[in-house]
Amino acid sequence: MRWRWITPVVQENLIVLGGSSTAFGHRWTLSQLMRFWYLNCGLHPGRFPVHDTSRWDEFQVINFHPRVFRDHDVDVKIEFCGVCGTDVHTISGGWGPPTLPLIPGHEVIGYVTQIGKQVKSFGVGDRVGVGAQVGACFDCFSCRNGDEQYCPDHVHTYNAVDPVSGATCKGGFATAIRVHEQFVFPIPDEISSEDAAPFMCAGLTMYSALVRNGAGPGRRVGIIGLGGLGHLGVQFAKALGCRDIVVLSHTPDKRRDALRFGATHFYDFIDDAAECQACFSQTLDLVISTLSVWKDYRDIIPLLRARGRIILVGIPDDPLPVLGIYQLVISGVLVGGSKIGNKSEVVEMLKLAVEHGIRPQIEISSSMYGYFWIKIFTSRSLDVLVSSVGRAMRRVEEGRVRYRQVLRMDIHMAGVYQSSSEKLEFEFRRGNDRTAEHQSVYLLYPPGG
Ligand SMILES: [Zn+2]
Ligand SMILES: [Zn+2]
Repeated sequence: MRWRWITPVVQENLIVLGGSSTAFGHRWTLSQLMRFWYLNCGLHPGRFPVHDTSRWDEFQVINFHPRVFRDHDVDVKIEFCGVCGTDVHTISGGWGPPTLPLIPGHEVIGYVTQIGKQVKSFGVGDRVGVGAQVGACFDCFSCRNGDEQYCPDHVHTYNAVDPVSGATCKGGFATAIRVHEQFVFPIPDEISSEDAAPFMCAGLTMYSALVRNGAGPGRRVGIIGLGGLGHLGVQFAKALGCRDIVVLSHTPDKRRDALRFGATHFYDFIDDAAECQACFSQTLDLVISTLSVWKDYRDIIPLLRARGRIILVGIPDDPLPVLGIYQLVISGVLVGGSKIGNKSEVVEMLKLAVEHGIRPQIEISSSMYGYFWIKIFTSRSLDVLVSSVGRAMRRVEEGRVRYRQVLRMDIHMAGVYQSSSEKLEFEFRRGNDRTAEHQSVYLLYPPGG
């Protein structure tokens, strides 16, 4: 293992030099040494045994080399990554067996550290975001019409294979990501990195579904589910000028929050069903369902006017419940789906967010904090460490997050993500410099690979 030779150097400095530790020509603080020692004394690639996907909330740190760098690529050093319901569904096998090892995360915010020869729209040091897509053919009907998210050859950010190199795509629970520039988005200065992360999937999914289905001044919109997607959708609907914004939820505790986000009405699925029908029968222009659990949409159809639309953006593990064709025919209601959005919609969405002060309500978790203290105070021989990443994922799965979990990607706080001693020294000297180069990265992934 290439890091193993470093360990005695550090130990020697600790023992011989006591508190005054100098290595690679750099004077280290005690906390830097502790982080370095921790990251290099046991977390070697391949150290951990293979596990099964049922233990999906147990994450480990691995070293990972990104695919070959191409002319249109942008390297992004990651600061924050949101946790999406899709991450949980994928790693827990809800949509079928994932490709392992799997590094989830597709609400990425960070800084550009390297650009390819053909990249014109980004420079080193730019703050950018990456969402749920990292590739498309750029030549099909969808791609030529601004619908690259519907390209038949689309490449998802993780649990997918890069069609050129054959390498497995790795997501944003990592120190860095390498992406084609088309799927890298500029982030306005007015939005902080942690706030920007949830816009990359949750925000875009709602914004695109709203604007592509007629949400605007005077419209009546329903949003089913007030979670990571729904709470941003309500704010967008308000900013777009919708007349009525009706939230349907099975969590009555969220009523006050829904109204705070801009909803005009809030109904509990069970307790308020009759009242909702009485007030909004055949009036809504659009209902967007963010639910990732089974829902009988036959109850929703009577709320929509003729030619009104039910748009599904949440993807439950189970198939869609049977819809009565008779009910659809006599109501004239349309049922469809919507997937994330295109690049110009990202730019429009963030502009709207700046103009109207739209921000996600987030909970920030450190990705490494749990690891760090467990490693310090327990045996290094632990095969699996339940990190704060796993805890964050579990909170998402249990529906306890209000309203988006965002991971601080502080793996790189140790400055260790170079594969040569020269680069390592450079990294430590530069500390947390946002423009530092990197060639290899440490990432988190659920066991099983
Ligand atoms: Zn997502
Ligand atoms: Zn295409």
